[in-house]
Amino acid sequence: MNDCIFCKIIAGEIGSTKVYEDEEILIFKDIAPIAKIHLLCVPKEHFAYLSEVDGARAALLGRTLQKIGKMKEELGLGDGYRLVINQGENAGQTVHHLHIHILGGEPLPWEK
Ligand code: 5GP
Ligand code: ZN
Repeated sequence: MNDCIFCKIIAGEIGSTKVYEDEEILIFKDIAPIAKIHLLCVPKEHFAYLSEVDGARAALLGRTLQKIGKMKEELGLGDGYRLVINQGENAGQTVHHLHIHILGGEPLPWEK
């Protein structure tokens, strides 16, 4: 999608600090971290909502969660981490390209 900031980051049109990339996902540092480690994990395919997930996307999200789990040590998340997916207005979703917030590096209160 042309006006999507995360699509532009994926395409390299906007800079980001990438920490992992493969053919289907990108993980990069959030520009405004709310935890010691705050990463964003995005599928390279643009879609905004879990309600748009079909079988192929469900499989992609499954592989994505598996990868995050397997990479926890190299991501600095060995002591624990939290995954958050904001969906829609009440959740404060500001970027409408599905993304998983990865939070860790310190004990995390439920509210910040
Ligand atoms: P949301 O509220 O939509 O779940 O989260 C969007 C996240 O994207 C926010 O945490 C925000 O700081 C992050 N963000 C927005 N624009 C940029 C950007 O240009 N670069 C990076 N690295 N993160 C961004
Ligand atoms: Zn996008």
